Amino acid sequence: MIIVFKKHSPEEKIQEISKIITDLGYEPRIIRGVEQTVIAAVGDESMHSSLETLKMFPEIENVLPVQKRYKLTSREYHSDDSIIKIGKEKIGAGNFAMIAGPCSIESYEQMRETAADLKKVGVKILRGGAYKPRTSPYDFQGLGEEGLKILKEVGKEFDMPVVTEVLGMPHAEKVANAADCIQIGARNCQNYHLLEVVASCGKPVLLKRGMATTVEEWLSSAEYLIVHGCPNVILCERGIRTFEPSTRSTLDIGAVAVAKHESHLPVIVDPSHAAGRVDLVLPLAMAAVAAGADGLIVESHPNPVKASSDAAQQIPSARFGDFMNRIVPLVQLMGKKIP
Ligand code: PEP
Ligand code: MN
Repeated sequence: MIIVFKKHSPEEKIQEISKIITDLGYEPRIIRGVEQTVIAAVGDESMHSSLETLKMFPEIENVLPVQKRYKLTSREYHSDDSIIKIGKEKIGAGNFAMIAGPCSIESYEQMRETAADLKKVGVKILRGGAYKPRTSPYDFQGLGEEGLKILKEVGKEFDMPVVTEVLGMPHAEKVANAADCIQIGARNCQNYHLLEVVASCGKPVLLKRGMATTVEEWLSSAEYLIVHGCPNVILCERGIRTFEPSTRSTLDIGAVAVAKHESHLPVIVDPSHAAGRVDLVLPLAMAAVAAGADGLIVESHPNPVKASSDAAQQIPSARFGDFMNRIVPLVQLMGKKIP
């Protein structure tokens, strides 16, 4: 920690605070500038009490951490890109993953038709929501357990690993039994008790960034998962809430680059929930690939007009080949492998 004193702080205060730092188990190294003094407190923060409390002294201007609060997630802990597997499909370290499927699972027929269309054009991982986080309680809430059953069977039939969202603790085990990868949605990014429970399920986790979550908070949520036993975390940027209403959420491309810089975990992008409209999904997806994303998760439905949720943003599954034809060359240009 770096403790910054206000300009012209009296020497006796610097000595007094330096003693407190020693008493808390750190070694204080005093650095005197022309006008301001700082103390570098050397010691392992995880072993001693926090120095944040020093902010209560009127002479202290700031207390700044040197180390990241997320350690296991950071590149300081693991400098190379990690490879995470969903089923047998690899993501990260040059392996690009394409995940696609409908917003909601609606029936066997709908899932089979989607899986057949997507598999034909090279999509390897199937998505679909059984438990849906809807803004209105009057909207379709998902098929729940029945949806999980459909997803699992269709995934098996088409030999595609499946990703589905867990909404709450009561369904965590059931979701974990059906899914090859558990999605934590944007609304639950900072639901720490849920993260702990999901981390112990033994499945990889796709962690979406919350709509109002900073990159640091998002990476700290990944840290919760790792600390509680799940090292297989895939980060997913899906747009954040800003003042701009022309897209459903503002896709934060910068965050993709920052997360890749800060963390060894793979970072994928969901252009569908960021765009909110089908015509913008391709350009946002292309921007994501160009920014270094390790994969995409895209909504696709056999008949979007009839979709029970997010109708406006889903690519008709029969036309997903057109999307792939634009994305695959770009992925290859970025030097990544797309299976
Ligand atoms: C979803 O993937 O269907 C979903 C609800 O996503 P998000 O949590 O990003 O809104
Ligand atoms: Mn959706």
